[in-house]
Amino acid sequence: MIDVENVNKSYLRGKTAVSVLRGVTCHVPTGAFSFIVGPSGSGKSTLLYLMGALDTPDSGSIRLRGEDLAPLEPAKKDELRRRSIGFIFQSFNLLPNLDAVDNVLVPFLPTGEAASRRSEAADLLRQVGLGNRLDHRPSELSGGEQQRVAIARALLKRPALILADEPTGELDSATGQEIFEILRRMQREMQTTIVTVTHDHRYIQDSDLVLRIQDGRIVA
Ligand code: ATP
Ligand code: MG
Repeated sequence: MIDVENVNKSYLRGKTAVSVLRGVTCHVPTGAFSFIVGPSGSGKSTLLYLMGALDTPDSGSIRLRGEDLAPLEPAKKDELRRRSIGFIFQSFNLLPNLDAVDNVLVPFLPTGEAASRRSEAADLLRQVGLGNRLDHRPSELSGGEQQRVAIARALLKRPALILADEPTGELDSATGQEIFEILRRMQREMQTTIVTVTHDHRYIQDSDLVLRIQDGRIVA
C-alpha cells in the first residue's frame, strides 16, 4: 500500500535546516493495521503526513499503491487525498454547528453528494455505536463520541487508507481502547489499511506492523 524509500525531510528553524527524517525506508502492506511509535519530536507526524501527501519529502520517494507521489500536480494530490485517504486527528476537527450526521457528510458537501449519502452516514454512525446521537452537535458529545464521529467521517468515503495521528491523545484510556477496537473492527470489515501514530504502547498489542522511529530513523 505504502512504500517509503530513503526519505529525507528537514524543516527550517530560523535560518538553519533541522533534519527530521533521515533516510527513512519502510513498507506498509495493504490491509495492515499498523502503528508508528517513538518519542516526542522523533518525526512520527512528519512521516504520517508525507504518507498522506499532505507534505513532500526533500529527497527519496513515496509511493501509494505503486503510484509515485512526487510527480503529481497539486490538484491530483488533492483528489487522491479526497478520494482514497481518511484522516483522523487528535483533536477531532468537527464543525461545532453541525450535528453528527452532517459532520460525517462534510467531505461530500463540496461534491454535492451529501444528500445521497445521508443514510449511509447514519448507518456508519450506528456501526460506531452512535445510533442514538445522530442529531447531537459536538458540544453535546463526549470526547470519545466525537472521535467516533470523526472515524465515521473518515470511513464514509470507503478509503483504501486511513491515517490517524494520536487519535486517542485527548481521551482517557478506556475510551481510547474503545476507539482502537472500533478502528480494528472497521479495518477487518472494510479491509482498510490503517496507519496510526501513537504514544501509548497499551494500544499496539493487536497490530500487524509497528514502525519504531527515533531521531528521524526507523529503528525497528
Ligand atoms: P509528537 O509525538 O510530539 O507529536 P512527532 O514524533 O510527531 O512528535 P513531528 O511532529 O514529526 O514529531 O516533528 C519532528 C520535529 O520536527 C520536531 O522537532 C518538530 O519541532 C519539527 N517540526 C515539525 N513540523 C515542523 C514545521 N512545520 N516547521 C518546523 N519544524 C517542524
Ligand atoms: Mg506528532
